[in-house]
Amino acid sequence: MILSSKALDIKPSSTLAITAKAKQMKADGIDVVGFGAGEPDFDTPDHIKEAAIKAMNEGFTKYTPASGILPLKEAICKKLQDDNNVSYKPNQIVVSNGAKHSLTNTFMAILNPSDEVIIPGPFWLSYVQMVKIADGVPVVVKASKENNYKVTIDELKKALTDKTKAILINSPSNPTGMIYTEEELRAIADFAVSNDLFVVADEIYEKLIYGDEKHVSIASFNEEIYKRTIIINGVSKTYAMTGWRIGYAAAPAEIAKIMGNVQSHASSNPNSLAQKAALAAISGSQECVDVMKTEFNKRRNYMYDRISKMSYISAIKPQGAFYLFVDLADVLGKTYNNEVIEDANVFAKLLLDNESVAVVPCTDFGYNTHFRLSYAIAMENIEKGLDRIERFLENLK
Ligand code: PMP
Ligand code: GLU
Repeated sequence: MILSSKALDIKPSSTLAITAKAKQMKADGIDVVGFGAGEPDFDTPDHIKEAAIKAMNEGFTKYTPASGILPLKEAICKKLQDDNNVSYKPNQIVVSNGAKHSLTNTFMAILNPSDEVIIPGPFWLSYVQMVKIADGVPVVVKASKENNYKVTIDELKKALTDKTKAILINSPSNPTGMIYTEEELRAIADFAVSNDLFVVADEIYEKLIYGDEKHVSIASFNEEIYKRTIIINGVSKTYAMTGWRIGYAAAPAEIAKIMGNVQSHASSNPNSLAQKAALAAISGSQECVDVMKTEFNKRRNYMYDRISKMSYISAIKPQGAFYLFVDLADVLGKTYNNEVIEDANVFAKLLLDNESVAVVPCTDFGYNTHFRLSYAIAMENIEKGLDRIERFLENLK
C-alpha cells in the first residue's frame, strides 16, 4: 500500500515525545528530572474547574456550535479589546481544540499549495510541520544571538519571494522567551503590509512577561495590518489548562468563516465543558495568573543565575514564557565517557542516560547547537536538575 507522501513527511512532536518519556521513566521508579514539558506544573485553578463541574451537572454535555459558544466568543472579544486594544466581533472568533488546532486551521484557511510562510528561528517546532500539513512551504529565517534571537527586517527581506504568503510572529517566544518591542513589531507590520503578507501572531505567552516589557498586539497598529493578521491565543499556558484543549483565533470575518467551516468537518466543536471552563478562566478573576507568574519569575531568576555560572554553556535572560534557550556551542566536540558530543541531540541523550535529566534538544527548533529548559517545573526539581547538569558538564573532556 502506498501511504500519503505528505503525511509521511510530517515529523512527530519531539517536545511531546520527550515529555512522555520523562513521565514514563518517573512511573518506572527512576528519579528523573524533566525540563522538557512546556506545561505549567500548577493545578488548574479551582474556580475554573468548578465552572466545568457545574456545566456537567447542568447537562451541558451536547454538541455546541462548531466554532464555539457565543458567551465564550464574547468574553474573548472583550479580552482582546481590554488587553490588546483590538476590536473583534464574535463572528471573527473561532474556538478550537487548543492553539495548536487554531494554528493548523489558520494555515488551512490561508495557504494554497507551495505558498511560503516565513518562520523566524528559533521557532516552536510545530509551526514547520503545520505549514506542511496545509500544503505550504516553511521558510525558516534564522535569527542571531547578537540580536537576541529576533529577526531583523533585512533578514526578512532576503527570504521574500513571489510565493511568500505569510509571516509567523511568536512573542513572547517559545523557545527563547524573547519579546519583540513595539518598534520592532511596527517595522514587521510595515513589511507585511508593503509586501501583501498575512501575519500569524501567536500570542499564547502574552501574560507570562516578567520585567518591564509590554506585550503589544501587532494587529492593534492600524486597519491595514489588522486586516491581514490572525491572532492565536489560548488558555493552556496562562491558566494551567494544557489538558483541557481550548485555544482560539481572532481573524478577519472571511478567514474566521473558512476556519470554522474546516473545523465543522474535521472535529466539530471543542469540548463543551472545557469551553465553559475557558469562559470562567478568561472572564473571571485574574489573580491566579499573578500567583503563577510570581513563581515562574523566581524560577527564571534562579535558573538563569545558575546557568550563567556554569562552564561551557550560556543563555540570554528570557523576558517571558517559561523557557531558557541554552547555547551549547562550546560543548560541541567535547567528550563524555569517550562519546563525542556532536550536537544537541547527543548532548540530550547522554544527559538523560547518565544523569536522568530530560531537556529538549533544539534541533527541531532550527538550532542543533542549543537545548531548551522549561521552568514550568517545581523549584526543588529545578535545583536538583541543575546540580546534575553542572556535574555532567564538569565531567566533559
Ligand atoms: N504556541 C506555542 C508557541 C506553544 O508553545 C504552544 C504549546 N503547546 C502552543 C502554541 C499550543 O498550545 P495549546 O495547543 O496547548 O493551546
Ligand atoms: N508547546 C509546549 C512545548 O513546546 C508543549 C508541547 C507541545 O505541544 O509541543 O513544550
